[in-house]
Amino acid sequence: MSVKIFESIEELRAWRLGVKKLGFVATMGNLHAGHLSLIDTVKERAETVIVSIFVNPLQFGEGEDLSSYPRTLEEDIAKLEAYKVDALFLPREEILYPREQSFFVKVPDLAGQLCGKFRPGHFEGVATVVSKLFNIIEPDFASFGEKDYQQLQIIKAMVKDLNFNLKIISSPTIREEKGLALSSRNTYLSPAEKKKAVELYLALKKIADSKDKRLLNLKKLVSVAKEDLFKKSWKLDYIELRDADFLGEISDKTKKIVVLGAASLGKVRLIDNISFDYKGE
Ligand code: AMP
Repeated sequence: MSVKIFESIEELRAWRLGVKKLGFVATMGNLHAGHLSLIDTVKERAETVIVSIFVNPLQFGEGEDLSSYPRTLEEDIAKLEAYKVDALFLPREEILYPREQSFFVKVPDLAGQLCGKFRPGHFEGVATVVSKLFNIIEPDFASFGEKDYQQLQIIKAMVKDLNFNLKIISSPTIREEKGLALSSRNTYLSPAEKKKAVELYLALKKIADSKDKRLLNLKKLVSVAKEDLFKKSWKLDYIELRDADFLGEISDKTKKIVVLGAASLGKVRLIDNISFDYKGE
């Protein structure tokens, strides 16, 4: 059976009426093993799986890579077929944004921190399109990747606060053998940059693997990692330690810490993060 492709909201909604336990994975296409792992995650609970491919202009800032974002629809459809995905929602821009969007999802302060500081408006664009997709598809489950940790936390909070009737399931980051997190943006890297790209992960891993997990030491290691990446010609946006639960400040209640980083090699901005247990002090 081949994947059913829906370009219109009406046809999708008619199909949805006859489907139970629907699992959903939202993507911008250029599918890789990270996306496929999210499909596996929803498949564990869902009877039917739908994927969306939509490069959402609302979440790209001025001067960002909206026009050059890799679009590989034919290969993507072949992958979804091979993966036995039931349906693909493939809206054109006029379908999702038939008029200038005037209502947006207001995002919490968290959206102005970490990546939000460097990409103003990004998380508002993400939250708005994801809530549109949830309203159109009405999935029972949706999976989002830990790779985009801040996005995952914002969507989880949005679902709680706005009472979306679905469960969000997180999926671990899929990496290349040496540790580089898979990302569509890796395709922009030159061969030399591609070799270097793992350095961001290795810098975060050094912090996450430290035997001495006292906060003071972790903070010291963050400074060392920043210097190290700077010396290796990265342009660093941030490396930060946060409570893994909704990215608050670390306190004596913190059980898990996440160390998050964003940095560019040439024009290519990469993000990554690693979570680890924290026992206080
Ligand atoms: P994107 O197509 O980049 O918008 O990503 C769609 C979904 O796939 C998001 O929930 C991402 O967090 C997730 N994702 C992207 N890369 C990875 C990866 N390497 N491992 C796990 N999930 C990923």
